[in-house]
Amino acid sequence: MPNHILPITPVRQSRLSNVDFDNLEFGNVFADHMFSCEYSAGRWHDARIVPYGPVSMEPGALCLHYGQTVFEGLKAFKGVDGISRVFRPDKNADRLGQSCERLCIPAIDKELFCSAIDQLIAVDEKWMPSRRGESLYIRPLIFATESNLLVKPADRYLFLIITAPVKEYFSRQGGGVSLRAEPKYTRAAMGGTGFAKTGGNYAATLRPGADSVEQGFDQTLWLDGRDHSFVEEVGQMNIFFRIRDAFVTPPLKGTILPGVTRDSVLTLLEDRGEKYEERPISMEEVIATYNKGELQEVFGAGTAAVIAPVSRIAYGDTTLTFDVEPDNLASKRLYDSIVDIQTGAVEDIHGWNRIVGASQTAGKTMTGS
Ligand SMILES: *Cc1c(COP(=O)(O)O)cnc(C)c1O
Repeated sequence: MPNHILPITPVRQSRLSNVDFDNLEFGNVFADHMFSCEYSAGRWHDARIVPYGPVSMEPGALCLHYGQTVFEGLKAFKGVDGISRVFRPDKNADRLGQSCERLCIPAIDKELFCSAIDQLIAVDEKWMPSRRGESLYIRPLIFATESNLLVKPADRYLFLIITAPVKEYFSRQGGGVSLRAEPKYTRAAMGGTGFAKTGGNYAATLRPGADSVEQGFDQTLWLDGRDHSFVEEVGQMNIFFRIRDAFVTPPLKGTILPGVTRDSVLTLLEDRGEKYEERPISMEEVIATYNKGELQEVFGAGTAAVIAPVSRIAYGDTTLTFDVEPDNLASKRLYDSIVDIQTGAVEDIHGWNRIVGASQTAGKTMTGS
């Protein structure tokens, strides 16, 4: 049972009947309610659930000027058994804490974070789509609302959680994701904010991202900020290479976002006794193993896309292409394993799922399938 029972102001009229669940996109429709909590006078207060809608802020609000904002992204799924589950919210709560710390935003109580999600989903459970690959995307965000032009940590914040019924970020039929390795621009440098989920990191990627799209690629592949030779990650995903049946992903050294999906993939590989390494991998090595026929596949891992096979990587004049059709790709097996856990189709041996909505209030256990 939730530790924090939240007051709820329900909508007068639900917008649910206007939603075309047969043609969902990614995050352009939001459910009826949102969680809201304010920080002022040194404490978080007024945690509540209210109708989704505009928030008012002064034009001097610090978030608008100096980017003092953090966010999270996680998903809730309608299981094959009708039970609603949120995937690993405790990990997102921990990461939000690390992002807040880096951005000088006062910490959020982990119990409040999880309990707010429980109660928000209980209110808007009907918004959760039920087809495989669809989910209710949960977007917590915190931003500085103090009106002040001094560059300093704010003394007022707003913490919101909004939800959106979504399909996956990339279509499963889309034939994989194409990447352009970025030779000039940098997403994050050592000592910067690369490990934090903060808006500024994304603002910095828009220009190179537009270049990638203009040149016919889906996403930018980020290289290290010093020499642009080592692989870091993709837009909103961590990256994995399968070389001679061993999986390689770059290590978390401060410039890469510590993905929950990345962590889940590593755990699943460990469970299966597969070989994997968290180590730096250069574009030179990627190309050399490709030329020797040893690079079997590349895939991205992130909440929005789950697992996305990579079909093409361009780096300068070199283009690597990958067949994303074969049924024996590890990316397909990993995708199925993760979605099967998320939807309760297989046993949740790691206790990753948090049961929410009507099944939770009916007194079932909080974790497990
Ligand atoms: C959110 C994000 C990821 C993926 O993290 P998940 O927790 O797996 O969703 C990867 N890279 C960046 C830059 C991100 O913002």
